[in-house]
Amino acid sequence: MIDLLLLGNGSMQPLPDRWLSSLMIRLGSDLILFDCGEGTQIAARSFGWGFKRIGAICISHHHADHIAGLPGILMCIANAGRREPVAIYGPRDIMRIVQNLLVICPRFPFELHVAELVDGDSGVILGDLNLRVIEVSQRGLPVLAWRFDLPRQPRFDRAAAETDGVPRNQWSALQKGHDVVVEGETIHASRYLGPPRPGISFGIVTDTRPSPRLVELMAGVDLLVSEATFLEDADLDKAIQVEHFVLSESCALARDAGAGSLMLTHFSAAYPDPLAYESTARSLFPHTEIGYSGWQTTLAFPNE
Ligand SMILES: [Zn+2]
Repeated sequence: MIDLLLLGNGSMQPLPDRWLSSLMIRLGSDLILFDCGEGTQIAARSFGWGFKRIGAICISHHHADHIAGLPGILMCIANAGRREPVAIYGPRDIMRIVQNLLVICPRFPFELHVAELVDGDSGVILGDLNLRVIEVSQRGLPVLAWRFDLPRQPRFDRAAAETDGVPRNQWSALQKGHDVVVEGETIHASRYLGPPRPGISFGIVTDTRPSPRLVELMAGVDLLVSEATFLEDADLDKAIQVEHFVLSESCALARDAGAGSLMLTHFSAAYPDPLAYESTARSLFPHTEIGYSGWQTTLAFPNE
């Protein structure tokens, strides 16, 4: 099960009633923060998910509205008493940017690991959660689009293991698909595992233009989080010029990728009431929600 909490839904600059786009991801008791523009620490504090368990911070790109809040967030994590390492993942040049931002910070009581991700990178980010990124761009700047997958292990046939007398201390390895050797005899995991089961997946796209590669990356995600900086098609020329999405393009991406649902965020300050566009969005992609500060959802395995 994964919980998601949208901290803010704004682009460019924080406003009195609109924090910048930032998302908290909770997996068990661990937290991942996705993007942190100026003021993210204030938005995060309002919802009580805490700072100490933030073990990873993902940065989509190096514009201030997505990264300028990093020093403050790291100080909050330190003040909350974290001593375990914190990992920061971002596009090319993330190390230099983080080093420069940290000039204004004290030393942290935890190790900071900074990893630069490039097109096609994938791996485990936290627990069993896998990430995959592709590099897109915004006016020449590298931007990462992210897909997260939480696989589900096949069902384990406890009754068969019991009947066969498999020692219980071997069950967990077998459950994970590892064959084990007991008293010189190999016990094959496949004997006790059911068919593959679908996991949970979600993706995040921001600060770029639509492309077939995004459709490919987001194929079949349970939830697509997409920017919709411009809410009206009348602003398409502007969106093309500054390399953002209009709402109808975000809905088209969700539809073309076969996403289960769509949450829109990163709205231009020119739109005072993004929620007013909910019915328009739903006419284009039925399972759409307009993101707001405090929006939450839970992604669970089917029948969990
Ligand atoms: Zn932005």
